[in-house]
Amino acid sequence: MTDLDNLIPMDVAGRADRVRAAAADAGCDALVVANMVNVRYLTGFTGSAGLVWLGADELVLVTDRRYTEQSEAETSKTGATVRIEITNDAPKEILAAAAAGVGRIGLEAASVSWADQRKYAEWFGTAELVPTAGVVERCRQIKDDGEVSRMAAAAAIADDALAEVRPMLDEDPTEAEVALALDTALRRRGAEGSAFRTIVAAGPNAALPHIRPTDRPIYHRELVIVDMGAVVDGYRSDMTRTMAVGELNPEAQRVFDTVRDAQQLGVAQATVGTPIAEVDKACRDRIAAEGWADAFVHGTGHGVGLDIHEQPWVRASAEESLQTGHVITVEPGVYLPGFCGARVEDTVLVTDDGPRRLTQSPKELAGGLSHPPGWAVSPPGLRPRGG
Ligand code: ZN
Ligand code: ZN
Repeated sequence: MTDLDNLIPMDVAGRADRVRAAAADAGCDALVVANMVNVRYLTGFTGSAGLVWLGADELVLVTDRRYTEQSEAETSKTGATVRIEITNDAPKEILAAAAAGVGRIGLEAASVSWADQRKYAEWFGTAELVPTAGVVERCRQIKDDGEVSRMAAAAAIADDALAEVRPMLDEDPTEAEVALALDTALRRRGAEGSAFRTIVAAGPNAALPHIRPTDRPIYHRELVIVDMGAVVDGYRSDMTRTMAVGELNPEAQRVFDTVRDAQQLGVAQATVGTPIAEVDKACRDRIAAEGWADAFVHGTGHGVGLDIHEQPWVRASAEESLQTGHVITVEPGVYLPGFCGARVEDTVLVTDDGPRRLTQSPKELAGGLSHPPGWAVSPPGLRPRGG
């Protein structure tokens, strides 16, 4: 059982200075943070509305009266110095006062609408507005020990939930039934929720990388992709396993073996100083060697943290190298339309001692099922539900 009561404290207080330095690098004297995940990162506040003013020597959280108590409680728990301003109708006065005399104010281009941009232009008068991209997100890439402990807990919960639900595949469940069982198991183990909409996709559905679970029964002798994660204190885990009950068609077996191999090769590249593009290349080369380069239709992975998909992106065009504290996924897949698909994914922490997989569920096709590997329940071909 995961110990959710003894998570390591996070250094929230130190984040404002790191983001200030990143904003300065982007040519800004101050930053308006409108992305609510970034607001949470800087202040600990988890409400659904508000924004942060990050000035040279102050961090101001502006939110409304629904959040008076919550904002106070959450920000004081983090140890960060945050001035809270509660207003339902006067953010203009608060922000204009904070911005007095500031020359260049950064706005998060991806989170500020055209309408908001015009509003800020009016509020901030003569200051120059600078569109910024990924200033806070770049700081979020490197996780401290407290963040890692939350993600490791989320990963352990997902491992346990999958171990509990796996034997259910013996019983001809539908994809949706398995997804519901997984979501319930995550919650029962203390997760705040699922990290994203759980994917359970079997047979030809597994060839559609992000299909939602359907009412189609999962047959024996076909590949099933399960992609799932948990949330602990806002931090997420992400894991995919491909499973099957009974013996597979040799071609489907080759798809699975190739993907599992490719994933292992990719994880092995997740070391300090390695260009991120090398992780992608390791996976892609192995799959291309089997003639399936075009069947690997997505990037190899992504950063994980407060968001399920965040920087850095693990793909061929990535320019950065891995650093201690990066947490990325490695998730190659092969998708053969109308036939089958396989994906294997771990959430991996980059450490000075090499890659550390936070998700640790077994990768055997039948691992954890209630029968030995190779066990076949029916003659070749699909077995109808209840048949
Ligand atoms: Zn995933
Ligand atoms: Zn993923």
